Amino acid sequence: MLLYLHIALTFISMVANLILSTVILSVDSKNRLNRLYSFFTLAVAYWSIFKILQITANSAETAGLFYKLSSLGWTLLPAIYFSFVLEFTKTQSRVLKTLAVLLFIVGILFTSITISTDLMLKGMTYEKWGYSHIPGRIYKIGFTPYFITSFVCGLILLFLYGRRNISRLERIKTYFLLIGVSIPLFGGVITNMIMPALGIHVFELALTLTTINVIIIGYAMYKYRLLNITFEYAASTIINTMGDVLIVLDKELKVNLINPAAIHLFGYAAQELIKNNIKNFLLKDYFVPDMILSLEKEGFIKLEMEFLDKKRNAIVTDTSISTLKDESGDTVGYVLVSKDIRERKRLIAEIEKAKKELEELAVTDPLTGLYNRRYLMFRLKEEFFRSTRYNKPFSIIILDLDKFKEINDTFGHEEGDELLRLISNKLKGSVRITDVVARFGGDEFVILLPETNKTEAVALADRIRMNSFKENLPFKYRIVSGSFGVTTFRPDKPLSSEIDLLKLADSALYRSKRLGRDKVSHSDEVGEE
Ligand code: GH3
Ligand code: MG
Repeated sequence: MLLYLHIALTFISMVANLILSTVILSVDSKNRLNRLYSFFTLAVAYWSIFKILQITANSAETAGLFYKLSSLGWTLLPAIYFSFVLEFTKTQSRVLKTLAVLLFIVGILFTSITISTDLMLKGMTYEKWGYSHIPGRIYKIGFTPYFITSFVCGLILLFLYGRRNISRLERIKTYFLLIGVSIPLFGGVITNMIMPALGIHVFELALTLTTINVIIIGYAMYKYRLLNITFEYAASTIINTMGDVLIVLDKELKVNLINPAAIHLFGYAAQELIKNNIKNFLLKDYFVPDMILSLEKEGFIKLEMEFLDKKRNAIVTDTSISTLKDESGDTVGYVLVSKDIRERKRLIAEIEKAKKELEELAVTDPLTGLYNRRYLMFRLKEEFFRSTRYNKPFSIIILDLDKFKEINDTFGHEEGDELLRLISNKLKGSVRITDVVARFGGDEFVILLPETNKTEAVALADRIRMNSFKENLPFKYRIVSGSFGVTTFRPDKPLSSEIDLLKLADSALYRSKRLGRDKVSHSDEVGEE
């Protein structure tokens, strides 16, 4: 009965360890850590196979032979586990690494001794649970201390690692590993070494209890991604290949980590940046107390930050800063992710410029560069409402060149255009900056005069009539004159719309024409003659 139980339990441990090693390798077989752990479970599975053969053998000799063959599994376990622990704890110590190699050599030495001599195995005895071994001298005084101390050293390393300043998740993983292997180890020590020494003979539990280790490790793999470092690989790949700058600062703002994109952008070598205060590489001090305070409060801020590259050129960036906190919630540093936005800024400026040009084009008369009719109508409407609202007068002047057809006929259309430009410039030069001069069409111009009353408007029209024509034009154009129609919007004399105002100005203009041209008329005078 006990024999069958023993076989079943050993068989289960074999299957469990085989499954675990398959799973680990399928998670990530390229990773050294995973390879070491699956090596460990494979060694246990190998040991199980020979253990089953050993306990079910039909003679002491065959059982002994299987025992000797199984040694290749168990003699190497401490060395494999120790190497795994060094890898897991990222131990860099040369002494410990050399020790790992030594443990392997010693392990193999014990395998050779077990297989080729009788120093490890005194003989086989048949118990209720099958054949078990009677340890030889070297087993007792050499192998047992080696086995226990190697494992205990590994466990101590794990324990110390777990107490270091590592993340909570990393700590959980560490303790799972620690407990997982301790169960079969101490189970084995008790049943294989301590109890026989006390004269109590039970079947050895080490192998059987590795099933529990498999369950614990399997659970931690599932729950805490133990041995699945694909995630960490992915993170480091992202950091190293991302196009954006990534900088990790400690609490004193010293650079702790910087990615290749940052090194490329700033033109510094990594060692020129690491351990230096970030302020040395910034155009100004962004990390002022106010900023730190809001960062602490929000945990995250976004700002435009200018870095200085090695040539001291400013690099404008969109930067997000997050606080880096430890487990107790204290800020231990900051993470900066910055995007170079110089190109984007340049494009935006270009677009803005083009937009402005387009807007200007939409409101400009192409021949004279004055405002066009559309803009004039828009401003007129605006002024009409503003004046009504604020109870203020404003005036408009319509000016039409006299006998312009004849000018065209005399000098040609080209020169006619030139004259239109000349007069436009003169008009622009005669008014205030707040006034609007527009080409209304053909040889007709409108000047909008905000906050200007009748007297001022008529005076201005007359000044233009005198100054923008005749003597002030090139000799051959001195025959050119203009007729003016002025009208004034008075809030006390409301009109239904700005169109009425234009009609009034137009009627004044025609009065000037009728009266012989080269004249200024105000709409108030229309119908007087
Ligand atoms: P009036 O004194 O009655 O205003 O006589 P006018 O010859 O100026 O006649 P009107 O104002 O009715 O006609 C405007 C003329 O201006 C018609 C056209 O020959 C000329 N004209 C209109 N637009 C342009 C232009 O863009 N360039 C040139 N060169 N001439 C234009
Ligand atoms: Mg005309």
